[in-house]
Amino acid sequence: SGDATSVMLERIEQDNVRFLHLQFTDLIGMPKNVAIPVKQAEKALTSGIGFDGSSIEGFVRIEESDMVLKPDLSTYTLLPWGPREYTVARFMCDVYKASSGKPFEGDPRHVLRVAMEDAARDGYIFNTGPELEFFLFRMVDGRPTTLFQDVGGYFDLAPTDLAEDVRREIIIALTEMGFEIEASHHEVAESQHEIDFKYSDALHTADNVITFKFAVKTMALMRGLHASFMAKPIYGICGSGMHTNCSLEKDGVNAFYDPDAPRQLSETCMHFIGGLLKHAKAITRVANPTINSYKRLVPGYEAPCYISWSAGNRSALVRVPTPRGNSTRVEFRSPDPTCNPYLTFAAMLTAGMEGVRERIEPPASIDKNIYHMTLEERAGAGIETLPGDLYAAHQALLADDLICRALGPHVVEALTSVAEAEWESYRTTVHPWELDRYLATY
Ligand code: GLN
Ligand code: MG
Ligand code: MG
Ligand code: MG
Repeated sequence: SGDATSVMLERIEQDNVRFLHLQFTDLIGMPKNVAIPVKQAEKALTSGIGFDGSSIEGFVRIEESDMVLKPDLSTYTLLPWGPREYTVARFMCDVYKASSGKPFEGDPRHVLRVAMEDAARDGYIFNTGPELEFFLFRMVDGRPTTLFQDVGGYFDLAPTDLAEDVRREIIIALTEMGFEIEASHHEVAESQHEIDFKYSDALHTADNVITFKFAVKTMALMRGLHASFMAKPIYGICGSGMHTNCSLEKDGVNAFYDPDAPRQLSETCMHFIGGLLKHAKAITRVANPTINSYKRLVPGYEAPCYISWSAGNRSALVRVPTPRGNSTRVEFRSPDPTCNPYLTFAAMLTAGMEGVRERIEPPASIDKNIYHMTLEERAGAGIETLPGDLYAAHQALLADDLICRALGPHVVEALTSVAEAEWESYRTTVHPWELDRYLATY
């Protein structure tokens, strides 16, 4: 790796980089960043850069807060925005404890690495491809609003679609950063968009999700717009999901494809689905981590609320899209873009791998619209419901040993503090809905 380091240092010089951003992610999926002048590059790439982790969400107590960031060389990217006079490059970093030199258990990237190493013991690589949806909202007086941006006002002439321009700029920036954009389109709701990029192994995809959100927000802001990845910003219309397509790869081959199996889905694929469904409730805690996430998981908006799978139906939690061969994959539809992608992918993989190892058969697929089934019909078909709020989801996590072990005690404890604080604040707040409903009546 001494070689790899000197090759990287040369590249940094050739690219005329002046600043390096050393990036990592906190518990709730917020990108964090330490900027260093390029002079420090050699030190950063060899011994890492120290920082104080005590004020990072979900990291550590003051007494053990010395951390070291070690750049992952495979994540080197030039940032295409910012002043043109000098170049900024960024690395995603792994977080180590300064005292022991060991990986830090609270680093979400580490949690995913551990899950992927476990799958690698059976020869599997976990690939994921997310579909991120988001809204572009207007800013008023420098503050984000929920005002649509792509609807002209009364009597307004709208000669250009600003959203169209912004989406194009976003795609250009992402492409410069090495993203392979597969599709981008206006989503169902007004001002709602989706941009899909090419799948990769789950670790690099999680890095990409973080970078993607950051890039989209930055580009939107440069046009005076607010890009929101909130799960359900507006009642009564669609929320924003982060459907995650996933598959296992073994010896360079897609292990979910079997031309001779029913539906051409391999046993491995079926068992993976079995594992996902078995642990779906616990996964929800990380895939849908905000109070607001649960306002999206309601019937009628193509977001899942029932634990089922289907070949085609978009009301199911797990859907199997039509493509086969190397593109065979399952689409896990519950995650929303507020999730920490590292923790979410780690939980999904661990659940799926248990399915594969224990040969868990999924229940029969449900191919009708579950939103239209009655409670009795669902009960008859054995269809359970996803947790209805963050509190229930957190309890489901605590009840699931496998997923707790995958996340590790440090992360579970940190998630507990967050869930308790969020729930207590939400539970005790008097919301506008209550005033609307009761103030005049009582
Ligand atoms: N917005 C929907 C969701 O919340 C998905 C819509 C779609 O992509 N079909 O998951
Ligand atoms: Mg899509
Ligand atoms: Mg979509
Ligand atoms: Mg989809």
